Amino acid sequence: MRYLVLSDIHSNLAALEAVLAEAGEVDQVWCLGDLVGYGPDPNECVERIRSLPHLCVVGNHDWGTLDKLDLNDFNAYARRACLWNREQLSAENRDYIDSLDEFVVEGAFTLVHGSPRSHLWEYVMSPDEATHSFAFFDTPYCFVGHTHVPGIFVERSASCEAVPVQGDRPVPLSPERMIINPGGVGQPRDSDPRAAYLILDTDNMTIEHHRVEYAIEVTQEKMRKAGLPRRLIDRLDYGW
Ligand code: ZN
Repeated sequence: MRYLVLSDIHSNLAALEAVLAEAGEVDQVWCLGDLVGYGPDPNECVERIRSLPHLCVVGNHDWGTLDKLDLNDFNAYARRACLWNREQLSAENRDYIDSLDEFVVEGAFTLVHGSPRSHLWEYVMSPDEATHSFAFFDTPYCFVGHTHVPGIFVERSASCEAVPVQGDRPVPLSPERMIINPGGVGQPRDSDPRAAYLILDTDNMTIEHHRVEYAIEVTQEKMRKAGLPRRLIDRLDYGW
């Protein structure tokens, strides 16, 4: 089976469409949360994912937008964007987001937005942070999002190793347990503004990180029209 694994779409339809087009045919989409927040197309992004065979877990911005998390825990820009996204969301899409689980196990894989220890808020950025995360899931592999940074962490006997992400080529899933981040679709934060995604091939047991260019200016123009914060518009140019 061929899976498209993606995270942090953040209401950026141009980025999502570019990812779906380049990924081509897949058996299922696995979405690691934060469908909405920050960007200008919340309904379109939720509906696009719902139209595909998929599994999706909830992210902090999803529940912030639904008023299920305290918006005071978000920075001022994220808070404003959550409030704007909240006004836009249809009742049906709100119900869909409301129905999402925080933690999903599918065969050898666990799916969660933040970390297996703290599902919505904790970032897994470093080997240290990954090391203590391994105790909080039972499967060989765990996909996380939330950082908007592609990453691979491999559990070793006494510690954990961050393996450099080399895009556009298959990497075998190791016999050791792994925590894997596909990177962010709608607001990358690794200084590369291209949308990030990952292909999981369970026949060959490989993962493959990818980046794809998209029409950033289309998303930015919609954000301007919506009156979303300038800082959120500008950061898409830099991938930060
Ligand atoms: Zn996010």
